[in-house]
Amino acid sequence: MRDAPYPDPTAALPGSILRDDVVPAGGYWSRRLPRGDGLRIVDLEGRQAVDFLAYDANAPKANRYNVGNTVKFAGTIYLTAGHQLFDDAARPMMTILADTCGRHDTLAGCCSAEANLRRYGKQATPNCKSNFIKGLGEHGLSPRDLVMNVNFFMNVPVRMDGTTAIDEGWSRPGDRIDLRAEMDLICLISNCPQADNPCCGYNPTPIRIIHWHGSVDTA
Ligand SMILES: [Zn+2]
Repeated sequence: MRDAPYPDPTAALPGSILRDDVVPAGGYWSRRLPRGDGLRIVDLEGRQAVDFLAYDANAPKANRYNVGNTVKFAGTIYLTAGHQLFDDAARPMMTILADTCGRHDTLAGCCSAEANLRRYGKQATPNCKSNFIKGLGEHGLSPRDLVMNVNFFMNVPVRMDGTTAIDEGWSRPGDRIDLRAEMDLICLISNCPQADNPCCGYNPTPIRIIHWHGSVDTA
């Protein structure tokens, strides 16, 4: 992490802050998020991919973040403010309240040791799948509970001919996404350690995660 001060990402948060963490490059984070509470994820240095998963805290094995439902109801693969994350039961899990970046990925899932070996020929690389499995374990869940995730600040454009790529992110230092829990949740975050493709600008960097409680207008 750099020594230079970051802009204060709590300045526009009138709710009370329950937790405020900096997650180092390649680190992970997990926490219960009660219904109505908010989560602010700040890309401190820009161009960092943040892999994210949510589970219904009352039925985490049954109701998980569901990418198909999320894309169907959003009507787009590119989520932004006003869209919601949906679960397996087609219920809204979270609402995106604010988004200063404007490009997030719903298609590529998380990096894994297996995929890194296949793509880059490297053994035992740090990866988001392992981070998610550690986070699941903190909530009594197993690797079998891992589902397809959403990637905040990651840029996976889809071209007219259907081809895709992992491209450099759009986020600038201090860009943020604010989400409100629409049910009691378990949230997992892997601050992607990927250094072999442009998803983190070939240079993974820290993020800040703020859990707030209270009625706020973050628009
Ligand atoms: Zn990753």
